[in-house]
Parts: sequence; C-alpha cells; structure tokens
Amino acid sequence: MTAQVRTMSLDRPAPGAPVLAHLVAEAEIGKMPPDDDIPLYAPRREIYPQSVYGRFRNIKWAVLVVTLAIYYLLPFVRWDRGPNAPSQAVLIDFPNRRFYFFFIEIWPQEIYYITGLLILAAIVLFLMNAVAGRVWCGYLCPQTVWTDLFFAIERLVEGDRREHMQRDVRKWTIETYARKGLKHFLWLMVAWWTGGAWVLYFADAPMLVKELAIGQAPFVAYAWIGILTITTYSLAGHMREQVCLYMCPWPRIQAALTDEFALNVTYRYDRGEPRMAVAKAQELRARGEPAGDCTNCKQCVRVCPTGVDIRNGADLGCIQCGLCIDACNAMMTKIGRATGLIAYDTDINIKRRQEGKPGFVKLMRGRTLLYMGLIVVTGAIMVYALAARHDLALAVIHDRNPLAVLLKDGSVRNGYTLRIINKRLQERDFALSIRGPTGTELEIIGTPPRSDGRSVISVGQDQTREIRAVVTHRGLDPLTMAPITFYATDTASGERTAEDDHFHGLETH
Ligand code: SF4
Ligand code: SF4
Repeated sequence: MTAQVRTMSLDRPAPGAPVLAHLVAEAEIGKMPPDDDIPLYAPRREIYPQSVYGRFRNIKWAVLVVTLAIYYLLPFVRWDRGPNAPSQAVLIDFPNRRFYFFFIEIWPQEIYYITGLLILAAIVLFLMNAVAGRVWCGYLCPQTVWTDLFFAIERLVEGDRREHMQRDVRKWTIETYARKGLKHFLWLMVAWWTGGAWVLYFADAPMLVKELAIGQAPFVAYAWIGILTITTYSLAGHMREQVCLYMCPWPRIQAALTDEFALNVTYRYDRGEPRMAVAKAQELRARGEPAGDCTNCKQCVRVCPTGVDIRNGADLGCIQCGLCIDACNAMMTKIGRATGLIAYDTDINIKRRQEGKPGFVKLMRGRTLLYMGLIVVTGAIMVYALAARHDLALAVIHDRNPLAVLLKDGSVRNGYTLRIINKRLQERDFALSIRGPTGTELEIIGTPPRSDGRSVISVGQDQTREIRAVVTHRGLDPLTMAPITFYATDTASGERTAEDDHFHGLETH
C-alpha cells in the first residue's frame, strides 16, 4: 500500500508555540478530519519549482556539475597497468571476474572489500544525517541530482514557474507542443547518455563507444542503455518528488536515526509569526504590537522541488536542499530584514531564543563521535587489508570420493585439486611442494618433476591455474589421518604461500 504524505494547510500557530504542538492541538479539537476520512491515495499536485539564487543553490550547482562530470567522464580515464592488462581506471570486468579501481584490483574472493566499502558508505551516511539531517537527499542523491538537471532543462525550454504554469493552463498552441516536444527530446537525450555512460563501466570505454556507434556492440549493452534510458527519463522527468515521498526508504530510516541536535532546514516561527505583509508589520510595530518577519510571500514554497511549505514544520517531503533558505534570504534582504528566517537549525535553538538564550550547534556529541570512530576503524581495517594483501594465493580442495585409495604396494593415496592464483601483472613460475608425515610424496599430474625434484608450474599474468595433484604415503599406518601443508613458491623471488589440508587414511571412507 502506498503511504500518503499529508501536506496540511493550517492556521498559523500562536507566536512562539511549537509547530508540532500546534498540529496536535488542532487534531485534538477536531479541526482535522479523523483518520478514517483521509483517502489512502493523494492525487499528485504538479510542482513548478521557481528558479532561485543564493548560497545553497550555488552549492547544489557545484555538486551537480562535479558528480555528473565524474559519472559521465570516469570511464574514459586511463590507468597504465602494463601490457595485456586493461588500461581503464575504473572497470567492472565480468568476463574475467575482476573489478579495477585505479591501482586496486579486486578478485571475486576479495568481495569483502566491496562489503567494507558499503559499510563505510552507510556509516558516512549516518554521520551526515547526525550532522545535517537529509543533506544526502538534498545534494548528493542521484535522484536529486538528475531531477535538478531535468528541472534546469525544463526551465530553459518552458520558462520559469509563472511562464510555464500559464502556458500549461492556456489553450495549447503549436508553440506549446513544440516546447514540450523539445523538452522531452532533451530529457531523453540526457537519459540515453546516462544509460550509455553506465555500460562504459563494464567494458573498454573508447572501444565500446566505437562499437555502439557502428552498431556492433553486444546486445546486452544496448539492452542496458535502453533500460537506463527509460528509468532515468521516468524517475527524473516524470516521477521526481514522488520517488522521495513514496518509493525511497531512506526518509523513514533517517527519521529513526536522527536526534534533536541534528541541523535541519527549519522555519524560525519564533521570529516569523505572526506572519503578515510588510506594511501591516510596520504599522503594528509602530504601535508596539507584535509582528513576525514572515511576509507570507510564499517564495519558500514556490522554489521547493517537493512542494513543501516548511513553515508547517518538519515534513517527510523535505529533502533539506536549502533552496527555501535562499528564497527567504532574498526576500529578507529585499525588505531590509535580517536573513536566516529559514535556516539550518534545531528546535532546541528556537526554544532557547524564546527564552532569551543564544542558539548553539553541537557537532561533537555521542553519536557523531561514535560514527567518526567507526569510520576511522573501518577505514583503517580496509587500508591495512589492502596494504597487506598478497598477490599470490593457493587454494586446495581434497577429493571427496574416494577420500583415500589403497594401492597394491600397501601405500595410501589422496587426490587434490590445487589452484594457484597469480595477481601480479607478469607470468610467474611456481614450485609446488608439500610438508607432511615422513614418507609423503607429492605428484603433479601432467607435470613431471625437474632435475632438482621440484614440479614447476607457470601461471600467466593476473591469472589462476588449476592443477591436479596426488599425495602418496608409503609406510604410514593406513588407518590414520595426518595434517599436511601445500606450498607454492615463486622460483624467481622466493615468495611463498601455504595452504593446510589433511591426508586421509582408509578409516575415513
Ligand atoms: S522545504 Fe526547503 S529544504 Fe525542504 S525540500 Fe523544500 S526547498 Fe528544500
Ligand atoms: S520566503 Fe520567508 S518571508 Fe516568504 S513566506 Fe517563506 S518564510 Fe515567509
């Protein structure tokens, strides 16, 4: 069932009264309909966000440009890994089961690095939430970034809020259709390029671009471009704020993680109420009567990309983008009043100011220190794991059936599958050896020992090689099981890796 987000139209609260308390009071005295009468689905209101200028809008433009530039251009960044290795800085190489990120190469067995990264990202998100609420939603979330881009295109083609609204309600002309057609065409182009950039992370980007251009790319590339074109066009062009209101789980999770010290976009009702026109406020103030700073110009509502009136208090639809702050600051500057009627603030500060105390920002507190500590610890573990990772590994699988074979001469033989993993970007030779009870011999199937008695296996650069081996023990009591250790030693550098296993006697059949 889709949850309905209620945007309540309210009489303003009494000066100084907390907004939420005001809502509760209204519900109690029956001004609001009982829950049974509230429809489950709210019809969508078309939102025409007005353009706005100011500090937070500039930050959002900067974030938009940087994040989109990274997304679209990163596949074309080259990284020299030597001959016969991919030269793309960031590449998810499914056929060879590798993930390349600049100097880091992740193998399938090392997926825990990705897990570590995801844990780190989650804690950073929690920290951002503890410091400034849904600042991720307002500035960095892909839905926000692409929706912002689509809004910019819409304004460019259809005009700002007023012009766009007027054109929509008037009888549509050829010009209306032409503008709408152009807007949807540009949206589709952006969506198409978004899908196109996505597939470039999975293959050599310049090569894939050429193949796509001449129609010779793999079908799966076209399929993914199509899927991402449709989803980007739908999510950023048509669904917009509905993704934040109805589809995304983060607002619900975020609400459970926040505390009273987190900075949120807040209407300072202690200062703004009772709201009234500038002239009326001047008149009342001249008579020594109270008048709030809010002029009820509704600029804060008009610029909101999710259609929220922040003056009604905290709202699930508010993505904390700060655009209403810019709009209100512009209005306050215009009429010569102090800015900051809407600001990143806390309800605690509003209460303190009402009591004549100064507001404060408490960034260092239990939860932020905990999150910072977790980030440092998780980051340090990951850095250590990366620094200490070996570029040589050996995996051993003992044959299951049979576990052991009794030979004619009374000796016992076990079979194993060994896999040597060479993560270096050069071919290497490895001598295989074994340590076990006296009388234990290792034989590599298909690779006779050299004159020095060692079996040497070549493994290509950045490759693994699977080999079959048998271990025979002569003279061991055939009813026992003994620990053994396999070794793979780089014949050039002497680097060695070991893997423990067991030699099974006959009783384990
Ligand atoms: S209420 Fe303000 S901060 Fe919240 S989404 Fe709207 S414009 Fe952004
Ligand atoms: S922009 Fe500021 S002055 Fe205008 S309605 Fe919003 S809070 Fe009031």
